[in-house]
Amino acid sequence: MSQFHIAIDGPAGSGKSTISALVAENLQFIHIDTGAMYRAVTLAAIEKNIDLADESAYVFLETTDIKYVNDAIYLDGNDVSNLIRSDQVTSNVSQVSAHPYVRHKMVDIQRNAAKGEKVVMDGRDIGTVVLPNADVKIFLTADVLERAKRRYGEYLRKGRIERMDDVIEEIRVRDHKDSTRKESPLRKADDAIVLDTTYLTIDEVVMKIIDIVKKEHGYGL
Ligand code: C5P
Repeated sequence: MSQFHIAIDGPAGSGKSTISALVAENLQFIHIDTGAMYRAVTLAAIEKNIDLADESAYVFLETTDIKYVNDAIYLDGNDVSNLIRSDQVTSNVSQVSAHPYVRHKMVDIQRNAAKGEKVVMDGRDIGTVVLPNADVKIFLTADVLERAKRRYGEYLRKGRIERMDDVIEEIRVRDHKDSTRKESPLRKADDAIVLDTTYLTIDEVVMKIIDIVKKEHGYGL
């Protein structure tokens, strides 16, 4: 089988990126974290000091190279995987990713990267817009408190002390912005399988997805 597309969508903190990376590793597929791309655009826009609300200012994307390779994100050849996780990027990324021009640019890159490949791609609009004909579509959900707890744990591991209430608020605000924007909002595709990960471990979710792929498509059997 030459091309096989697995689309994984869901809200902030649902575990998409970690789970997608593990599914891809298990099946020996490429993994593409599209959230990292929108974060890279946001980082570039902040560094260029443009007005983030002005869609026409993103024309710099015509001459900017954004690549996601081996779970690292490159902006004009520089690995910015750590820089894209800053507070400043996180709090502005929903505004940046709401611009149709930015989305069209990223969707082109994402579709080209997936063409002819075996790919696990995760994001908000993969099953609905980027890869509407994906072979398998998964929509990950989890209770907002559980998602906030996971984010809080990630921050602690990085030595960042945050108030739990602030983390809950950060997730609520981002969910609201991502699901109410005009251009390709976060939405479950009609044919996506919903997995509620609230009470599941990462490994359990990964195994469930691999089971779905193998049961429905006999992939690798
Ligand atoms: O997945 P992550 O939380 O890193 O995504 C960061 C942000 O990028 C999201 O909050 C959303 O605004 C945007 N995004 C998007 N479409 C995608 C992936 C991410 O709009 N396919």
